[in-house]
Amino acid sequence: MKKDIEIPETHPRYKSLLYREKIVEGIEKKIVVLQGLIAHGRGECFDYLIGEETIPPAMDAIKAAVAALLLARHPVLSVNGNVAALTPGEIVRLAREVGAKIEVNLFYRRRGREEAIKEELIKHGAEEVLGVGEDADTKIPELGSERRRVSSRGIFIADVVFVPLEDGDRTEALRKMGKTVITVDLNPLSRTARYANITIVDNIVRALPKMIEVAIELKNKSREELEKILDNYDNEEILKKVLRYIIKRLDNLAEAGVTESL
Ligand code: ATP
Repeated sequence: MKKDIEIPETHPRYKSLLYREKIVEGIEKKIVVLQGLIAHGRGECFDYLIGEETIPPAMDAIKAAVAALLLARHPVLSVNGNVAALTPGEIVRLAREVGAKIEVNLFYRRRGREEAIKEELIKHGAEEVLGVGEDADTKIPELGSERRRVSSRGIFIADVVFVPLEDGDRTEALRKMGKTVITVDLNPLSRTARYANITIVDNIVRALPKMIEVAIELKNKSREELEKILDNYDNEEILKKVLRYIIKRLDNLAEAGVTESL
């Protein structure tokens, strides 16, 4: 990391600043585009609202997401710039635990960018990274722009796709193709959060390590047990719980005194 700014570990917002630096470093490595800064800032805002911790409805979504990935025939983890900058090692580890392929898919495909992301993932232990260059050889119907290009060995044939920090259009198009879509999105009101089959409202930096833990725990369970977890899961109910959690938390803060809790 470029050491223009040293963040003292004692800083009350140390972790948040560290992840911000990772995103900035991602720009220097050509992994992240400027628009990624805006997306990150929007995420930070929602993280304040949930209290910067994994809340109970997110934990339920994490269990269902891992069950879906373990039950899938062709699970694929889709990686964009911000995900590669924040959690490259965790993506590689999760793919290994659930037996999924990794594919780069970008809203802004720029020369050298997909290769830079692939390189970062390989540096963190990935053996194969799909969706780069010629490998993005087919298209998602109904989508304009470069985002529609996918790998015929990956997202195109996937039954379950993990698309963290995604935009709503692509999530909708993937659903229309009949795929089960799992996302991580701090904004419970985004189109992605509402279109996905399973929405984990949490920061990717907290959600992925928990998904890995849950995958280690669930991968020895029977298909019946995993199917039961999925059958009992209701995304609409989970999103309602997230909104109620935020309302209650803000109400409690307003009651207790906002400055009191500093
Ligand atoms: P949509 O099209 O789904 O309504 P959008 O226009 O906000 O969403 P993007 O900007 O592409 O689409 O999406 C980025 C999403 O990722 C935002 O909802 C943002 O809150 C979320 N986000 C950003 N950083 C993180 C993070 N670290 N962890 C989880 N979610 C994040």
